[in-house]
Amino acid sequence: MEIITSFFNICYLRQIFLRLYTYMRLLVKNIKGLIQTEEKPRNKVCGKDMSVIPIISDAYLLIENGLISDFGTMEELKKGPEKSIKAHEALDASGRFVFPSFCDSHTHLVYAGSREIEFTDKIRGLSYEEIAKRGGGILNSAKKLHDTSEDDLFEQSAARINEIISQGTGAVEIKSGYGLNLDDELKMLRVIKRIKDNFPIEVRSTFLGAHAVPADYKGRREKYVDVVINEMIPVVAAEELADYIDVFCDKGFFTMEDTERILMAGMKYGLRAKIHANELDYSGGVQTGTKYNALSVDHLERSGDKEIESLLGSETMPTLLPGSAFFLGLPDPPARRMIDAGLPVAMASDYNPGSSPSGNMKLVMSLGCIRLKMLPEEVINAVTINSAYAMGLSDTHGSIARGKVANVFITKEIPSYEFMPYAFGSDLIETVILKGEEYPPTPSSLRSEQALKGEDKPPNPPEGGL
Ligand SMILES: [Zn+2]
Repeated sequence: MEIITSFFNICYLRQIFLRLYTYMRLLVKNIKGLIQTEEKPRNKVCGKDMSVIPIISDAYLLIENGLISDFGTMEELKKGPEKSIKAHEALDASGRFVFPSFCDSHTHLVYAGSREIEFTDKIRGLSYEEIAKRGGGILNSAKKLHDTSEDDLFEQSAARINEIISQGTGAVEIKSGYGLNLDDELKMLRVIKRIKDNFPIEVRSTFLGAHAVPADYKGRREKYVDVVINEMIPVVAAEELADYIDVFCDKGFFTMEDTERILMAGMKYGLRAKIHANELDYSGGVQTGTKYNALSVDHLERSGDKEIESLLGSETMPTLLPGSAFFLGLPDPPARRMIDAGLPVAMASDYNPGSSPSGNMKLVMSLGCIRLKMLPEEVINAVTINSAYAMGLSDTHGSIARGKVANVFITKEIPSYEFMPYAFGSDLIETVILKGEEYPPTPSSLRSEQALKGEDKPPNPPEGGL
């Protein structure tokens, strides 16, 4: 009896294996333009190279077991591998473009409530610094977060994650920084971990205890820096809740000296820096970032020759957040000068309740073109390969390359890839694929009826009715 049972178990497992194996294969055919293809993946794109985007017209993309396994022209597919591909599912992308998913390397999307009251204050003419002085800004979010349970915070944040996935984002960095005390910072970081564990989007977590000086430490900023260094960083590191460490190095927030102390403390625990720099003033944040080999320095609205000089030859990715400069009416960062000087540039959404209540990376691309005078090709590089670098994901995300994670999106029917940043208010993303599977997992209007016939038919149910 045992032998018979074992035999059936083996048959059953074999069928399950075959079914899983077959199920995990997905072929996207007849793609009008496959964007950002790479035979040899680069970890970043700099200067003049940013104006070039590799594209294959009339292309196919083959995904297996959650990874990109092959791509090329439809002609190549018909000559070669098509006959051997028994895809259970195939999508027909006629008239549509396929992009690698956006990598959003700078967000604060775990937060409680919203701050549209301050939005009105800003319309009435109060500055970011004035609002901060009145107890608004980051401290307002800190109070709301303190009064919100971890479960409620997760639910609120999960809705934002679903929103950005539908807008084409396949990898996101999320910061703490609305806690400003150990318990509340840990609450935020645990919510980020729950997002990591429960969604197919790739998540990187950054500890930003030094986002603002909390009200209890008013006039005692250095004491708060001591708390961040001595009480928060060791616990965050011990619980493995952060991949990176961040400091708001700017006028009215933290100085270069504070930033250096915090970065050194984080580096002892293996936390590489990604810092907020030069948004409100020539803060020295960029130079501090390059000195400590930060993965990225972000914002950079106030950047001149010294900042550009400091970034040239460094391993630090200048990351621009045009959504917040747009929302706050700040001067735009000098993207053109940076690219012309030979630097790479990444762009991210800065999704947060106070200065950029949007995680829409397609809109970020539009702002890059319209306000920063970047070309469509440059903005595509900035939100894919370069922003993947800015969150440590160059090897696995940011382009269409064999072996990379199959995070891509299929557009609606559009005339050209330039149409994406051009049509700044239109939702042009039709199908999202994360780790090789459609998300959300519902039948798509694109699913090819033909694909389910003949060779592409799914396997029979397990033999013996098991
Ligand atoms: Zn930020």
